[in-house]
Amino acid sequence: MNGAQRRKAANEAVFREVNERIEALHRRFEMTEEPLQIVCECDRIDCTARLDVNVAEYERTRADSACFFVAPGHEDLTVEDVVERGEGYVVVRKHPGEPQQLAAESDPRA
Ligand SMILES: [Zn+2]
Repeated sequence: MNGAQRRKAANEAVFREVNERIEALHRRFEMTEEPLQIVCECDRIDCTARLDVNVAEYERTRADSACFFVAPGHEDLTVEDVVERGEGYVVVRKHPGEPQQLAAESDPRA
């Protein structure tokens, strides 16, 4: 990976942290029946896309440090593959090697 790709990985890590806080608040207010409104976890720092994801799906995906939620079309196939398509979002999984390693290092649950 080059410097630009590493910077992008850092952006994704920030968005993932934001979503972890959103989920924590969601749980605190016991809104688990309603979908989570998370931010797109793509590599564009100026992306403002919002995604509706149900809590169970969020938890299932978050358990894998290599996976991120992004808006359709925001995936970067040079560093990740689309592994799931939901309504209004896709789940991407980082390629083995450095992309996965960076994702694991920034995993807030690790
Ligand atoms: Zn995005």
